[in-house]
Amino acid sequence: MENLARGVAIIGAGYAGMASAVALTSAGVRVTVFEAGPVPGGRARRIVSQGNELDNGQHILIGAYAELFRLMRTVGVPSDALLRIPLEIRYAQGFSFRRLWLPAPLGLAGGLLLASGIPLAERLGAVRFMRALGKSAFRLERDITVAQLLEQHGQHGRIAKLLWEPLAVSALNTPVAQASASAFLAVLRDTLAGKAEASDLLLPRRDLSKLFPEPALEFVRRHGGEVWLRSAVVDLHELKQGFDAVIVAVGPHQLKALLPDLALDYSYQPIHTCYLQYEERVRLAFPMLGLSDGLVQWVFDRGALLGERGRLACVISAQGPHQDMSLDELCERCHAELARVMPGLGKPLWSRAIAEKRATIACTPNVARPGTNAASPGVYLAGDYTDPEYPPTLEAAVRSGVRAAQKLLAPGFTLVELVTLLAVLAVLVAIALPRFIDLSDDAARASVAQHAAAFRTSVGNVSLRYVVSGATGNVDNLTGFGDGTVDTNASGYPTDTANANTIPNNATGATRCRNVFIGILSTATPICGGSVACNSTHVFQATTTAAQVCRYTYVKDPTPARFFTYNATTGVVTLTNP
Ligand SMILES: Cc1cc2nc3c(=O)[nH]c(=O)nc-3n(C[C@H](O)[C@H](O)[C@H](O)COP(=O)(O)OP(=O)(O)OC[C@H]3O[C@@H](n4cnc5c(N)ncnc54)[C@H](O)[C@@H]3O)c2cc1C
Repeated sequence: MENLARGVAIIGAGYAGMASAVALTSAGVRVTVFEAGPVPGGRARRIVSQGNELDNGQHILIGAYAELFRLMRTVGVPSDALLRIPLEIRYAQGFSFRRLWLPAPLGLAGGLLLASGIPLAERLGAVRFMRALGKSAFRLERDITVAQLLEQHGQHGRIAKLLWEPLAVSALNTPVAQASASAFLAVLRDTLAGKAEASDLLLPRRDLSKLFPEPALEFVRRHGGEVWLRSAVVDLHELKQGFDAVIVAVGPHQLKALLPDLALDYSYQPIHTCYLQYEERVRLAFPMLGLSDGLVQWVFDRGALLGERGRLACVISAQGPHQDMSLDELCERCHAELARVMPGLGKPLWSRAIAEKRATIACTPNVARPGTNAASPGVYLAGDYTDPEYPPTLEAAVRSGVRAAQKLLAPGFTLVELVTLLAVLAVLVAIALPRFIDLSDDAARASVAQHAAAFRTSVGNVSLRYVVSGATGNVDNLTGFGDGTVDTNASGYPTDTANANTIPNNATGATRCRNVFIGILSTATPICGGSVACNSTHVFQATTTAAQVCRYTYVKDPTPARFFTYNATTGVVTLTNP
């Protein structure tokens, strides 16, 4: 880990920047976030228009967004902030497809075979297409466009128009004739071909700033960090003087102002969202419906999702003839398309179209991705456009933010090196630290501080291993970490080594806290607590102070009280060392 005593500055409070901020805060690093805008969220934020709170664009999440969901849990966002719907694509005009609740690949194959509104031959062809992609592990030797991929596999007709093309345009925000097939395959691999819940649709039930960036901001401030809104950074070099490192998490078109040498000349794709407010009685048959015969691709029922009754949000991803229309014309056109499939709709009471002209970079074959690597010493990049594989989405942004934080915490280390580092750390803790013990007050303070630091690093490494292994939910016996006995909760933080994933506030919890200490530090430092009674040989005692909170008190020399706490919900380790 770099010396981060002066803290880390993060430029940009979009999903990437706030992900970095939460990851670093969880590792005990002090962060200061600078955001140019008045609210956090960046390209996924709340706006106010003529007194109405809206999103800058309707968003949809999918079950495979594991990293975003993990961080949402860390900062305390309740699960009902999203409406989870098992994958179901319904069109206003006939076609519907629902993944069956069966293990892969049966759920998908069964769903395709039962899809309505598509000829049987095309449905069978779609099953063969997915099988062929599975055989090649969803990889291509050479990237091509989605249109070429569909052509190669004979995916024409209604299955292409109603399933593959809308999926690709929504996920990549790029017309299929230009879109990268490799990025599309990465999405198909993680959703349709993954576990059933990975393809679930998750629709926000609160505005996009409240969904993650604002709770993340509160989390950072609660743990001693700072977030400055309306504070654009103008001079990166000057900012760098005040911090040990900087993460630049601005949009790709904003990079030029801060790091002109790194900024690439991307081409961009727009996303238009048209909000139409009807009488409160107006609602859709399903929270999200496809439209197939016009400009509007999807329409969302904001009443069913956010309680904004009678409000529909029409979404048009990527470039097209709609870009030649004025925003008023676009609203009229959206209303006309809705009225065609919703008899008795009535006229809208008001409407508002938002054009995000640079919603994402065009996700084309072999588009250059800069990665999160240090741009110059102590400067790291984060942002949806940096992810080496995923299309520019919320999940790509969050992954990149976490990756930048991890690079900074362990610069230049591969996972294997991290595990080796951990082993060395364990030896140090086991052999070197006990030599200090008993010698003096300073030595006691040093011992507690070093154990806390080693513990913090180890929690970070467990969580890193959890992410890298692609784990989801609670995990027993996390492989690839230590001796493979550490258990974690669904946020990837350690909870036990005897197959438990929570830490209750009682003696059982204290036993688990002790197990975590031994399991993640692999140390010989004697520790009592829970089922192990303390005696004069013990150096630390494990107790709980609340559910999911462990306290490790230095009992070798009990006065003054020195301890560190570990919060298994947030992964934060806090030291009290007078
Ligand atoms: C209309 C629309 C619809 C979308 N739909 C979806 C969807 O359904 N699903 C999905 O997964 N993704 C969707 N996306 C993509 C998703 O929103 C983005 O991929 C993601 O928000 C990018 O996050 P980021 O943090 O990388 O960048 P940004 O959100 O662009 O954040 C960068 C931040 O940096 C700040 N900043 C810039 N310069 C400075 C400076 N000098 N000083 C301080 N701050 C600065 C900016 O103000 C901004 O807040 C959509 C995007 C749009 C626009």
